[in-house]
Amino acid sequence: LTSRAPHDGPRVLAIANQKGGVGKTTTAVNLATALAACGKRVLIIDLDPQGNASTGVGLDWRRRGPTIYETLLGATSLRDCIVETPVPNMSIVPSSVDLSGAEIELVAADRRDTRLQEALQQERERWDYVLIDCPPALGLLTVNALVAADAVLVPLQAEFYALEGLSHLLRTIERVRRALNPTLTLQGVVLTMYDRRNNLCDLVAKDVRSYLGDRVYRTVIPRNVRVSEAPSHGKPVLLYDLNCAGAQAYVHLAGEILRREEGEGATTALAS
Ligand code: ADP
Ligand code: MG
Repeated sequence: LTSRAPHDGPRVLAIANQKGGVGKTTTAVNLATALAACGKRVLIIDLDPQGNASTGVGLDWRRRGPTIYETLLGATSLRDCIVETPVPNMSIVPSSVDLSGAEIELVAADRRDTRLQEALQQERERWDYVLIDCPPALGLLTVNALVAADAVLVPLQAEFYALEGLSHLLRTIERVRRALNPTLTLQGVVLTMYDRRNNLCDLVAKDVRSYLGDRVYRTVIPRNVRVSEAPSHGKPVLLYDLNCAGAQAYVHLAGEILRREEGEGATTALAS
């Protein structure tokens, strides 16, 4: 975990977990917002056909424009898909419903695993962080994210089968590392929708921490109604209600990640 010179290109983090509803999109959008608020230039890539990250930052589904789907199929450059968000320093590459067909359309294509990595090559100068919001599956789209990424960030909901799902995901990461991306690492695991009044939450959290040690962030994201309300307003929770517990947790998570990535000294000026 060394300091990186600016010309090294962006740190690319894949936000991945094959389970749906565990907080991937929420983490992608709000971590990106917190990093942007710290002055980082952040690009979100919405790699889920459901497009929740796109709508979660206020993008209108009816807008016409190229998406990550066209990029993966080689019809357009990534640059042409990038859209600014209401958050300064933060842009997004939107998803499209067509993306659900891309898994099939790419099966027989050459370089099918490295399409996103290649597309990102032209964007090396412009961003400090690229956050990829993965779909809830370990198919070709997620593999493209893992190949393009420097590290994986795993949102994990503390519930009964969490550890089984996690070990499956870690095996997939290991396979991608061996075959396609030897420098891929696990950035960390963040416990999401955490409920301190729920004993099972505490038990699972202890299990995960004893299994992965300091790869589990100290910051946990609490279950917080403001977090779930924010997307329907097309806003990251940091814009919707900066002082709520969920927004503050994402500010702290960004601080913890920046310290891991860049060493001590990262700002947490937004923490209240
Ligand atoms: P995924 O992308 O893994 O499918 P989401 O980020 O979309 O998961 O989250 C699933 C649902 O849970 C969404 O409705 C989201 O608003 C809600 N949610 C996510 N994190 C929290 C939280 N910390 N507190 C309350 N609701 C949350
Ligand atoms: Mg999602």
